[in-house]
Amino acid sequence: MSLTVCKFGGSSLADGNNIQRVADIVENDPGRRFVVVSAPGKRYSGDIKVTDLLYECYKECGQKGNCSESFAKIRKRFRSIVEELGMETFDIGSILDETEKQIEKNKSADFAASRGEYLNARIVAAKLGRTFVDAKDIIFFDANGQFDEKKSYPLIAEALADCQGAVIPGFYGTDINGKIKTFSRGGSDISGSIIARAVNADLYENWTDVSGFLACDPRIVNNPQKIETISFKELRELSYMGANVLHADSIFPVRKGDIPIKIKNTFRPEDAGTLILPSKKYVKSGNIVTGIAGKKDFTVIYLEKSMMNSEIGFARKVLSVLEKDGICFEHMPSGIDTLSLVIESRYFSESTLEELIEQLKEAVKPDYIHALENIALVATVGHGMASNIGTSARLFNALSEANINIRMIDQGSSEINIIVGIDNADYERCVRAIYREFFE
Ligand code: ADP
Ligand code: ASP
Ligand code: MG
Repeated sequence: MSLTVCKFGGSSLADGNNIQRVADIVENDPGRRFVVVSAPGKRYSGDIKVTDLLYECYKECGQKGNCSESFAKIRKRFRSIVEELGMETFDIGSILDETEKQIEKNKSADFAASRGEYLNARIVAAKLGRTFVDAKDIIFFDANGQFDEKKSYPLIAEALADCQGAVIPGFYGTDINGKIKTFSRGGSDISGSIIARAVNADLYENWTDVSGFLACDPRIVNNPQKIETISFKELRELSYMGANVLHADSIFPVRKGDIPIKIKNTFRPEDAGTLILPSKKYVKSGNIVTGIAGKKDFTVIYLEKSMMNSEIGFARKVLSVLEKDGICFEHMPSGIDTLSLVIESRYFSESTLEELIEQLKEAVKPDYIHALENIALVATVGHGMASNIGTSARLFNALSEANINIRMIDQGSSEINIIVGIDNADYERCVRAIYREFFE
């Protein structure tokens, strides 16, 4: 029998009725032995995710020394879940009392945020009659705050070896000081991938609220085409660039174990979903473009200096300034006398951008330096792009016809992506124009 690790996202676990669906899906296939869960997500648009409510609890503790007001909302959410599931004998009251005390005592945002997954996993484990295995005992971070695979994998394998079935909370683990630490937002996808790799699963199923990885964000294009199969490489490009159906870092653990991922819809389990394959198992689809994704809010710093290309160490000096200030850059397109740095705007308040420009002036004495703010990046990704002549012409033509001003272009050396920088205000129109050109 094949072994499957399945991860259910917050959108699949928002209330008791949805959790009942999840239980049915798990029980429908005996291969689904290990289940990773997120915290309850939004029940309707405008609702608040449990994780966000928990960050509120942490804030309230900082202000008042307790979180009674915010925690009341958490209490209500979980009580109604247990009620909807008809779990009268499950003593959620005591677990909630204990959790509230621990949040107040721990004074840690990560600890507070992790409790959504913890509480949900306790409930799902009881519902399924499976062992609850706490992520704090099996997932560890190293001194740099990175996932510690050497320590974690053997512990996970050992903890799950004799379990016929287990439920594990996603999103968190333990740091080197023994404190709870979370991954970044959406990180339960990473936990699921780690568990799949540790038990050497045949498949990592990621259950969410859409019937697969779509060619672009369904909130921008109505009912976009579904991607049948996609390679790990394409997935990495698309998820990093904002297709947040799967956390961009969730690919690494399964990639090392050559374990395919399947995206499935909890609300339409009969739909085929999307199969994400290691590059060596991936067979190219006939499509030129596989998908489109993007993100807003970048700043482009443009530097010009005559004979820049013959000035040894120019780029190093520029990058040293960023390194000293602890700033990561996303792209660095360059020409003979020009170089641009594309940086997430979250690094800058107004004064820090000016300071950075002053430091760059001092370091490399450019003839001209200028910052463009409010830039969005849109990536068009596909293995078919490298071998199809005229793909970029079609893309730029489509943008020109839609009257969109391109501020920056970067083509990855793998030739499976072209990234354009445009004004934030043009973002949605840009995604639609590219989608129309290649998919309609
Ligand atoms: P979960 O709660 O299951 O983790 P997420 O909200 O993290 O779910 O991810 C699913 C959502 O991702 C979808 O509801 C959809 O709105 C959004 N999304 C953005 N880009 C894409 C894409 N290319 N394909 C599918 N979904 C996408
Ligand atoms: N609950 C966490 C979040 O909202 C992690 C996750 O859902 O994957 O970010
Ligand atoms: Mg998610």
